[in-house]
Amino acid sequence: MSRAKGRLYVVATPIGNLADISLRALEVLKQVDLIAAEDTRHVKVLLNHYGIAVKTVSLHQHNEDKVADTLLEKLADGQNIALVSDAGTPLLSDPGMPLVKQAKAAGFEVSPIPGPCALIAALSAAGLPVTRFCFEGFPPRTSGPRKAFFQNQLSNPVTWVFYESSHRILACLKDMADVLEPERIIVIAREITKLHETIVKATLAEALALVEQSPDMRKGEFVVIVDGAQEKPEAEDITPEQEKILVLLLKQCSLKTAAELAAQITGGRKKLLYQAALRLAKAAVEVE
Ligand code: SAM
Repeated sequence: MSRAKGRLYVVATPIGNLADISLRALEVLKQVDLIAAEDTRHVKVLLNHYGIAVKTVSLHQHNEDKVADTLLEKLADGQNIALVSDAGTPLLSDPGMPLVKQAKAAGFEVSPIPGPCALIAALSAAGLPVTRFCFEGFPPRTSGPRKAFFQNQLSNPVTWVFYESSHRILACLKDMADVLEPERIIVIAREITKLHETIVKATLAEALALVEQSPDMRKGEFVVIVDGAQEKPEAEDITPEQEKILVLLLKQCSLKTAAELAAQITGGRKKLLYQAALRLAKAAVEVE
């Protein structure tokens, strides 16, 4: 008689504090035949902490297609497998998609074991609207594509969230400040659940100044949450003359500088000119 098919468990693990693991996650990790982990040495810290001695196999972004085939054979053979990443929920900016996709396509049961996830933890403490939100993963690593990434989000009306590393957080915020309004509210959630957990809610300009001035604010792991774009006031608008000047300035300098210079030249309101500059820059991108 052939053995029943195995089941794939997608298990969320702590994002810093080892106590943040569910009873069910521990139960599953103890009972499975094999644990597929992004980094087997990393997961051993968790497994040793909880006295779990199950065999591990490495599944990371460079080998996951190949390893997925082997794991499907093991599932077919009746083995139960847990998939974990270094931290948080697998597949969320982490490996695992090919395995889950192929396991489902092959008719195996895939069960989530829910738990920590940095973006959800950050959203839960940010105090920004979460009825709808969008998760954008990691922004591009270089300035040009990163500014284009922010341009795309300019008029997004819902809260948006992204991950960033300590190496790039300052450059990333600087690029963001070149594209978004300085008064846009953002939340920087750093080292969540760890000793130096810091959650700062401020305007973009204030947050950038803080990260520039405080070396500690550039250490650790980051989730950045951005308030959605506010509706523009209908009543007031810039004059055709101001628009002409803005269009010329936008060809030479950043949104912020263009708005500031246009305000100085025309005596108009900086905020109004900034909003118009945003609109004009977006229209220009759409035409391209
Ligand atoms: N799958 C994970 C999850 O569910 O959150 C995310 C994995 S992704 C490769 C790692 C990124 O998540 C980090 O660079 C950071 O942006 C964010 N992150 C993970 N742990 C964090 C923490 N404790 N505090 C803040 N951000 C964290």
